[in-house]
Amino acid sequence: MKPNIKDLCVDELAKFLLEREHPAYRAKQIYQWLFQKRATSFSEMSNLSRALREELARDFSISRARIVRRAESRDGTIKFLFGFADDVSVESVLIPEPHRLTLCISTQAGCGFGCAFCATALLGLKRNLSASEIVEQILEASRSLAPDQRITHVVLMGMGEPLANYVNTLRALEIITDGDWGVGISPRRVTLSTVGLVPQIEKLMAQTHVNLAISLHAATDELRAELMPVNRKYSLKQLIDCCRALPLPRRKRITFEYVLLRGVNDSEQDARALVKLLKGIPCKVNVIPFNPHPDSEFQRPSDTEIARFQMVLHHAGMQINVRRPRGDDIQAACGQLQGEEGACSAQRTRAFATAI
Ligand code: SAH
Repeated sequence: MKPNIKDLCVDELAKFLLEREHPAYRAKQIYQWLFQKRATSFSEMSNLSRALREELARDFSISRARIVRRAESRDGTIKFLFGFADDVSVESVLIPEPHRLTLCISTQAGCGFGCAFCATALLGLKRNLSASEIVEQILEASRSLAPDQRITHVVLMGMGEPLANYVNTLRALEIITDGDWGVGISPRRVTLSTVGLVPQIEKLMAQTHVNLAISLHAATDELRAELMPVNRKYSLKQLIDCCRALPLPRRKRITFEYVLLRGVNDSEQDARALVKLLKGIPCKVNVIPFNPHPDSEFQRPSDTEIARFQMVLHHAGMQINVRRPRGDDIQAACGQLQGEEGACSAQRTRAFATAI
């Protein structure tokens, strides 16, 4: 099979062109066709010579994600199931809000981190997505929009752990954020969420300007290790020390995500421990009341319990936001993404945390 041109970085494509005696700047033009005009064939690339178009078509393919399924929630959230060449599929979620349109994208098919409350964890890790597969979710979702709509924000919070697929994720981030030849979404409007892989967080923050969200979910090592096996590899102390040392630009904050599980991590004592843990870190806390899914025995706390937790953080002067579930009627809310396998969920048992 011919290599997929979208998987080359600009420098690699420029080198290829130079070797064939074409000017290097053509690489940018080709990328503008692929990522800005969403071209699906070389013949569309009308500012390239016919000879170059034919040469490219001989040597490269242009991949495209297939929309396998599309479901629309009553709140306007749209869930896409995208299929790739080897029939692996992932989900992306389009979330319309006043003044912004956010796409939540996946970076791996399945996930190997085994978080106790997450539906994607049940799949185990199938494989990493390539950079182009990560970006194609944005291109294909954009194609399905009305002419006056455009995706304004991207969150890497779908299936998989982005920092466990570091090289491809970084390459995808470059394509997504480059304004010259890439998709052109400012890094300020891109947020990457991680289970807390300490060395990769440090690397990411040195190499990009995207926003960082960390899935915390507990304020003690004991509870966090129970909920998130990754805590056995990187303790809370290591994670929090890393956050304190990050070179954050002024006014930039780290987001800590905290899934609220009834009777597990939602008490006033839990909230006070969280305040203490995060003291002094420029941050905001995103509380996500647990989104139920058929394979889980966890429960969402009542509104009163959620408010009680929220008040403790609020009184401590923390910036806190309780996330409303979006698309939960189509299983598109946080932690409900399961890809095609969702249909046969009853036969599954929790996958072993293979990534740790
Ligand atoms: N692997 C990354 C990206 C996934 S982001 C990470 O863990 O950060 C998805 C967010 O939804 C994470 O904070 C995750 O912990 C949270 N989540 C998972 N299952 C959930 C559920 N059932 N209800 C609410 N939030 C959930």
